[in-house]
This record gives sequence, C-alpha cells and structure tokens, in this order.
Amino acid sequence: MIIGRLFTAIPRMSTLVKVVYNYLGIPSFIRYNKTFWDTYNFLQKSQYWPREKLQEYQFKQLKKLLRHAYENVPYYRKTFKKRGLRPEDIRSLEDLNKIPCLDKDTFKSRFNEMIAKNIDIRNMPLSHTSGTTGKPLQFYRTYTENIIEWAFICHQWSRVGYKPGERRVEIRGPLINKKKPVIHRPLDGVLRLSPVIRDKEGVSFYLRCIKSFGARYIHGYPSAIATLAGMIKKYSFKVPFKLKAVFFASEEVYGWERKIVEEVFNCRVFSHYGQAEHVALASECENSYFYHFVPQYGIVEIDPKTHEIIGTGFFNYVNPFIRYKTTDVVSEPILSECEYCGRSYFPLIERIEGRMEDFIVTPDGAVIPPAVITHPFKDLKTIKNTQLIQLDIDSILLRVSFFKNATNKSERELNQLICGLQEIFGPNVKIETEIVDEIKRTPTGKFRWIISKVSEKILNE
Ligand SMILES: [Zn+2]
Repeated sequence: MIIGRLFTAIPRMSTLVKVVYNYLGIPSFIRYNKTFWDTYNFLQKSQYWPREKLQEYQFKQLKKLLRHAYENVPYYRKTFKKRGLRPEDIRSLEDLNKIPCLDKDTFKSRFNEMIAKNIDIRNMPLSHTSGTTGKPLQFYRTYTENIIEWAFICHQWSRVGYKPGERRVEIRGPLINKKKPVIHRPLDGVLRLSPVIRDKEGVSFYLRCIKSFGARYIHGYPSAIATLAGMIKKYSFKVPFKLKAVFFASEEVYGWERKIVEEVFNCRVFSHYGQAEHVALASECENSYFYHFVPQYGIVEIDPKTHEIIGTGFFNYVNPFIRYKTTDVVSEPILSECEYCGRSYFPLIERIEGRMEDFIVTPDGAVIPPAVITHPFKDLKTIKNTQLIQLDIDSILLRVSFFKNATNKSERELNQLICGLQEIFGPNVKIETEIVDEIKRTPTGKFRWIISKVSEKILNE
C-alpha cells in the first residue's frame, strides 16, 4: 500500500524512482495486487452474466457514483440543483438522460469545480489525454484506477489467450530518441520498442530483439506495427518467431493495417478501444471482428444523430466523468447479444469509425469516414507515409514522405493518389501537397493519419 502510494506520487518524487519506473517497470506485487485480482476474477466470472444482471450491476454502480458526485463535486451539485434533481430521482438507467452531457470544453473551463472535495489530491499526479490536436485535457485519477484499468485490459486480452503477467513486446509510447531504440522493463515483463522504424537495419534489429526476448504477444500502435510488417514484407525478411496475437490500441485501426499485420505475423490482430478518461471500453470478440463494450466498466450511450460515444465511467471518483462526450464515433450500434461468443455485453458495434476530427467533411455536405479514404492508398510502392490535414471545408493538405531512393515512379504514384482523393472529395476541394522527409508523430509517439480542423464543429451543428 505504501509503495503503491509512492508510485502515485511519481511526478513529485526523486529522479531515482522515476528512473526505476521508466526503465525497470512496476514490481509485479504492486501491479498484481488484491485490487487487480479481485477485479480480474470478477470480470472473468461475470462476463457471461445475462443482460438483466449486468444492467442491475450497472445501476448499482451508477447510483453510488451519482450520490458521490452530488455530495462532493461542485459542478455536479450545481448541475443537479439547477434542474431540481436529486440523485434518488434517477430511478433507472434510462433516467440518466435527465442529467446533461459534459463536453471537453466545459470540463476544461470548469476544472476546479470538477474535483471531489472529499479526496486529497495533494500528492496525486495530473493525468492527461494525448492531445493530438489542440490542448490536452488534464484530470486526476488514482493509482488504484490504473490497476483496475489494467485488470480490464487483461480481461479483454484473455479472449485470445493472454494471461496476466505474460511477456509482451510494446511498440508504442513516447519516442525513444537513441541509437538503440529499445527499453527492457524486466519488472513488467515488457520489451519496449520505439514506434519509429527508420530503415532496413532497424527492421532487422527489431526482429532480433523480439526473437531473443521470447514474447508471444506484440502490443502497440497500429500505425507502427503495420509499418514494421510492411517493411518486413518489402525487404523480404523471414519472421523468426511465432506470435499468438497482436494487440492494437490507442489509435484508429484501418483495414489495411490489420490485413498486413495478420499476413506477415500469421496470427490474429485483436484490437481494443478506450480513452484516457476511462469512460468506455470495448474490444473485439474472439470469434468475430465485432467490438463489444464492457458493461462493468461504465455506461455507454451512442448519440442517435452523430453516433458519438457518450460515456459514464464507474471508477474515477476524483474527477467523475458523467455522460461525457468523447468525440469518438462508432458504426450503428447493435443491441442484441453477440451470436459469436454468447456474451450479453452491449452495445455491439462493427467499427470504431474514428474521432470526429478524423472525418473529412466537404462543401457539398458529404461526411467521409477514414475507412473510405484509405482506398487510393492501397498498394503504394514508393510512398512511405502520408497524412491528410483538412485546413478548411474546401482545403486539404496531403503530406507525403517517400522511401529512400525514390525515382520518377514516385511522381507518377503521387499524381495517381491525388486523382484518387479528388474523386472521393469532389471537385470543390482543393488538395495541396507537401513533401517531407519524415511525418512527425505526436509527443506520445502516436500517429494521426487524418486531422480535420473543421469536422467536429460541422458534425455537431
Ligand atoms: Zn462476441
């Protein structure tokens, strides 16, 4: 417990502890403590509960959270009072819509009123979203919440055989700007590789590292793992190890990424969706590619007009997120139980479409999801990487980086790509190009393929 608290206070602690945490990991007796096993065992047991029992559980959690928020969090108290509401007026899950939704701007501008007064935050580090566009959202969460989150992730991964504590290779996280782009965290059983893979030598080095580490799971950003798979194929390397699964997380997943990774590593790609605010968690079914949201994690509502996920997380009592608008958009929700695995988890969805800012909107009113835009990008040979930035409703910047030794074939390929995009976006959108050596990742190492500066506003109109 004391050591747990020590880790909670990491940002304020000595450099030595930070170095231990960053380079060795969290000792397993802290990470796999009683909270972890209680949560994990509960999830393994309750995953086949019938819908009514899951909803009953959700309502119990909701009542507890609302009572706490009303009594201790000034923002929620004011919001309830303004509407003449008390927590006991919420008598069913459906009644939740009596409480207004919370958007990111309100959370940021009224942050001081969002903090529970009965919890001591003096030694608590601030967490934040990755802030791929705009300013990241900052909030508090406890160390215990992180442990619970890890139990939920392990629960989801157990569908493809992963056991808590098993070794894994991570290709994610902040860039490791070193000649040797690798960190071994022995206490976590993790070998972490930088998401930036520069050349053929880099690929060869990664393959040797993964082989000698002996992990059977790779976990990380789809963009980085797909780039590695693509380069393995391009340079005709043989994969010298056998994986059980590749876990995709933290970025949008495109069909081509899944395809190349499954082909090159000859195993299942298993993807999950979550967010730093911990309001909604979903992952794929082991018997299909449908995602199920996990009802024990929080309450998920899908906006009927925009299909935005609105989530209420059960575990953050410092900064409760109630009916929080995530700006993430999904395909049409399905409310029946999953016919492929028999779980009653809900809702069920076919795809995470992306964030609102991943959609391109055009002057003639079309809303184009990223999956549609991928088509002209298939089978590129000389173009290594691309990024689309919608600057205005009628203006898109296409950023391109080429493989080394690109020839005049590259120009032809670029022109074809622009023609393909013009067909999708229509004649009223101007596409400009910018050629760069390397397309930059965000400070946390994530890659954003599409960034629209106008779509969120337009979709909400
Ligand atoms: Zn299923």
